[in-house]
Amino acid sequence: MSDVIQLLPDHVANQIAAGEVVQRPASVVKELMENAIDAEAKTIKLILKDAGKTLIQVIDDGNGMSPTDARLSFERHATSKIRSADDLFQLHTKGFRGEALASIAAIAHVELKTKQANDEVGTALVIEGSAVSSQEVVVTPKGTSVSVKNLFFNIPARRNFLKSNTVELRHIIDEFHRVAMAHPDLSFSMYNNGSETFNLPMSNYRQRIVNIFGSKTNEKLVPVAEETEVVNISGFVGKPEFAKKTRGEQYFFVNHRFIKSPYLNHAIAAAFDGLLKQGTHPSYFLYLEVDPQTIDINIHPTKTEIKFDDEHTIYALLRSAVKHSLGQFNIAPILDFEQDENLQTPYHLKNKPANTPNIEVDRDYNPFRQDSGLKAKHQRERFTKQPAQQWESLYVGLESKSSKSLDNFSEVHFESDNEAASIFDDSQETQNKQATYQLHNKYIVSPIKSGMLVIDQHRAHQRILYEEYLKNITIKDAVTQQLLFPLTMHYSKQEIGMISELREDLEAAGFIFDTLEDETVAVSGVPVGVSESEVSIILEALLRDVENDVPDTHFSAVDLLAKSIAKSLAIKTGQTLLKDEQEHLVNKLFACKEPNITPSNKPTFITMSVDELDKKFI
Ligand code: ADP
Ligand code: MG
Repeated sequence: MSDVIQLLPDHVANQIAAGEVVQRPASVVKELMENAIDAEAKTIKLILKDAGKTLIQVIDDGNGMSPTDARLSFERHATSKIRSADDLFQLHTKGFRGEALASIAAIAHVELKTKQANDEVGTALVIEGSAVSSQEVVVTPKGTSVSVKNLFFNIPARRNFLKSNTVELRHIIDEFHRVAMAHPDLSFSMYNNGSETFNLPMSNYRQRIVNIFGSKTNEKLVPVAEETEVVNISGFVGKPEFAKKTRGEQYFFVNHRFIKSPYLNHAIAAAFDGLLKQGTHPSYFLYLEVDPQTIDINIHPTKTEIKFDDEHTIYALLRSAVKHSLGQFNIAPILDFEQDENLQTPYHLKNKPANTPNIEVDRDYNPFRQDSGLKAKHQRERFTKQPAQQWESLYVGLESKSSKSLDNFSEVHFESDNEAASIFDDSQETQNKQATYQLHNKYIVSPIKSGMLVIDQHRAHQRILYEEYLKNITIKDAVTQQLLFPLTMHYSKQEIGMISELREDLEAAGFIFDTLEDETVAVSGVPVGVSESEVSIILEALLRDVENDVPDTHFSAVDLLAKSIAKSLAIKTGQTLLKDEQEHLVNKLFACKEPNITPSNKPTFITMSVDELDKKFI
């Protein structure tokens, strides 16, 4: 047979690529605005006709392009933003694929005017169907103006697919908001059919949000701030009483880029746990800054999804930061026992010794000397005038029972996998590697630096499994084990309906359903670690939980699912554990993000200090 493979002509390839990049006018708006920001513009103007269907124009006062670059910019894979594959891991710009302009030019009429600061004159280009139809020298201000006309003129099916102007405009406004919110230090304006829709002067984050969402927003915002080595978190969450029925005002920005993250959204929902009315969603405007090397934004052509290297830490920090803010601003009870205190210690302060209080002592002090009264008064004043924080620090180093046990407690909390062992007494560890004992087939007891640790085996295992399943479900990374014969079970129609709703999540957790209709469920695959006999136990527990909890969102359903599986599968009280099983459990527990509580907030372990033991012997 003769060869059949052909290379696609460029304009066809561009049209195909355009399908990925440009879904609707809003996609063009996003790409053009991001290019303007990358070009270091300070002022960005968006002009629309018919919600972008007839015209989308973005005018910026950025760096502009040379005549050659102007032509090149419409070539596919033409980008000034990366030169080598390594640059991909160091991205500080929005674009990097070099696809946007080429794609847009493949499906619209494009006019470009651009001039660099030091040039006398600029360049004007007209491009139609990927080909340059005219290039001229023009007088134009510094910066770039890109006009995109008659979007999808050559793909009638796509053009007909566009929604009403109202809907398309809504999408454009969403993109405009996202870009504008990520860059309050730039000024943005937007016009549709000649009238000004938005005018956002340079400002700060709070002001930008208020300018977009209206002045009433101001009083609703609670600031969030947390600086750690992994991530810097800033921004605002809405007070719980203003939570909305729809998930409207929920924004995450990572390194000044709007992203969608159901996983991080869950962290916020968890921070608001118990503060919201059923069926309402908190507003949030949160800005995360991370080292570009620790994220991958290359997983989606429109770049709204992102992969973090250390998703779980970010989840925990985010949740803790939001909880902390709600507490600080008296929105949640301040004494929040669920809170992971250790997460609130910024990383750079962790493990650093506390400052030794600097107390000056007057060694010449003589109570019988004339002026000593004055001196004493002077000293008293000095103490009472200590600012609160320094005043507290006077206690550092004093062996108070509470602060001591708290310290150890928080040390227990948040050590990473290999460091977790540090709570255990080093000497004991090396001398006797298996320093755990099982009590009444229920508790695992182990000596630790400060005294003794008592772990509830069932609860601890619940925590471990819960975090494992949550992770598997969220990143859809579960391992399935195929059953030899499908397992068939019968439920009521209503119950089948509930299972169907959770089907996707159950599958993400590792289940495979052959049948799920009428009154029959047939399961042909189960998550690794789940035995055949446990399947019905899990499903039943899940149905019970769903009925009791009525999860109204996908996220609480996932949470519930992980909780149910964990509860059903956790080792039971009464089960004898071998020494290495005990050790394994302890290590796994302290590798968890929140080792101290079960998924339903019950303590998983307690500690007893030597001091407390000593007291019992008095
Ligand atoms: P990318 O942004 O991924 O590099 P684009 O197709 O969006 O790809 O743009 C191609 C190139 O054109 C950019 O890398 C940049 O050099 C140049 N460019 C595009 N828009 C502008 C602008 N508004 N100002 C200056 N240069 C621009
Ligand atoms: Mg771009």
